[in-house]
Amino acid sequence: MKNLIKNFLIFFLVFLVIAAIFSALSKPSQAVATVGLETMIQQINDGKISEININTNKLDITLKAGQKEIVKKESTESFSTLLNNFKVDPAKTATIKINVNENSGWDYWLTLMLPILIPFLLIIGFMIFTMRGLQGVNNRAMSFGQSNAKEANPEQRDKVSFKDVAGAKEAKEELKEVVEFLKFPKKFHELGARIPRGVLLLGAPGTGKTLLSRSVAGEANVPFFHISGSEFVEMFVGVGASRVRSLFQKAKKNSPCIVFIDEIDAVGRRRGAGLGGSHDEREQTLNQILVEMDGFEPTNNVIVIAATNRPDVLDPALLRPGRFDRQVIIDLPDIKDREEILQVHSRKKPLAKDVELRKIAQRTPGFSGADLANLLNEAAILAARQNKKIIDNSELFEAIEKVMIGPERRSRIITDKEKKITAYHEAGHALVAHFLPDTDPVHKISIIARGQAGGYTLKVPTEDRHMHPKSEFIQEIAVLLAGHLTEKEIFGEVTTGATSDLRRATAMARSLVTDFGMSDHLGPRTYGEKEEMIFLGREIHEQRDYSEKVAERIDEEITDFIKQGSARAQTIIAEHKVELEKIVTALLEKETLEKEEFENLVGPKPKV
Ligand code: ADP
Ligand code: MG
Ligand code: ZN
Repeated sequence: MKNLIKNFLIFFLVFLVIAAIFSALSKPSQAVATVGLETMIQQINDGKISEININTNKLDITLKAGQKEIVKKESTESFSTLLNNFKVDPAKTATIKINVNENSGWDYWLTLMLPILIPFLLIIGFMIFTMRGLQGVNNRAMSFGQSNAKEANPEQRDKVSFKDVAGAKEAKEELKEVVEFLKFPKKFHELGARIPRGVLLLGAPGTGKTLLSRSVAGEANVPFFHISGSEFVEMFVGVGASRVRSLFQKAKKNSPCIVFIDEIDAVGRRRGAGLGGSHDEREQTLNQILVEMDGFEPTNNVIVIAATNRPDVLDPALLRPGRFDRQVIIDLPDIKDREEILQVHSRKKPLAKDVELRKIAQRTPGFSGADLANLLNEAAILAARQNKKIIDNSELFEAIEKVMIGPERRSRIITDKEKKITAYHEAGHALVAHFLPDTDPVHKISIIARGQAGGYTLKVPTEDRHMHPKSEFIQEIAVLLAGHLTEKEIFGEVTTGATSDLRRATAMARSLVTDFGMSDHLGPRTYGEKEEMIFLGREIHEQRDYSEKVAERIDEEITDFIKQGSARAQTIIAEHKVELEKIVTALLEKETLEKEEFENLVGPKPKV
């Protein structure tokens, strides 16, 4: 639309210029007098005229006395007809020199044609201009069915290898085998072994799936075709399937090679699920992928690697032997892996001598490889902002919080009253987290607004844990509710600041009941079928597999868990009022408290 207006303005300008030129050209020369037809006839009859130049629509007349005149005439009427009409005696004209101009001069044609042509030119030009925008679309339309897989050549310079991927040991082990297949296919063929056709990488976003598959291509030194699942999906049905066909044709020609389909869940969702028309296209595309993978000859050394972070929604047909029969799960990195990833990414970054990457790894549970890379980058940017030459611990810690919660917003104006409320709220979280036996120790408390949060309390687990008992969840709920409860205890009413705490506590309590079977009354079963359905772009998650009556019981149980958590928090707040006041005073003064400062106030975390 913006373009359209711009084009229109350009043409309007061009039009103005042309009009100006045109009017300059057609300006009549004022030096010569224009006279009427009758005057001229009179002059002819009087024998005053020496010469007449005949043009189509005017006559240039030279009088015997030397003056010049112009007489306008109709262009359709010839000069001789004119004389006839006025009954001029031919003898009178005999002495006059008469020249007939051919009127082939360009200016004549221009003045004649321009008024007709200009609107046409304008319209045509305008159309061409606007069509040019559409042309691009048209060109793309012509090559619709072609796969637009990007090929990365083995000779490419920014090649990655397994060295660039830290951690993910098992995944690398598994993929090393794939490299073997690609490098020495004969070894396997001779034993009658069938080369795996597909490897599916499963893992949370940012855990290095794309990186790993690129490193496989780098290690095996083979061509690498990269396409994203969403690129198969276009406006028209059937395009995806034909793209798959062309992609695999290309791959077979370049064998041995790797085809990498990123985000395969975009096309590989369970067929038949979902409402609306879009899944038709997905199904066709998926079918085509399956057909192509089945159609590989044993000697086609093409290995398809696909990545997804939603294995739960994948079509079972994709996972059967002969297709993506190898599934490599990439977990979020544990503390050791995090340290290694930090090492890989700090290779080119000058770190201060006293920086211990182990400490950074400790403070970043739940961070993915991408988060860690981002963290180091943020730290480098922070250091550069202060014109430092090396990156210090302070920048690294600041970057952790920035990546975790969002950037600090010191400029957010808060009143003293709000500050006090925030201080009590965060102190409540910290206090309860500190005095409960199974919660993670408090690492930092702050009442500086950061991201969406008005303040925050950071807890960092001492170790990576994968299984959590019920008691831990209740304590976690207690910590989440502590902010809200402290506000209520001190000020007698609550603010909106606790909304996300409450939402998280409620979600946690619901999971306890419906997912983990931790409710004594409802028993060890799950409630609700979590099925992926897409309707009008929205995901409808749960399908009830329980009755209305049970729904009521679930609600009661959720409320009960929340009550248990809230009771524990209240006990602690009531028992440790003195410490609470100490924390608040310190927070109001310093705005942030580090672990040591906090423990100086309340003592070390009690051991059970
Ligand atoms: P995914 O495809 O799983 O979403 P990517 O492979 O795109 O994640 O990873 C994003 C970035 O995170 C990579 O470019 C890399 O810089 C970093 N990264 C992730 N995992 C690792 C790892 N194990 N070792 C080194 N870097 C990693
Ligand atoms: Mg990726
Ligand atoms: Zn809170």
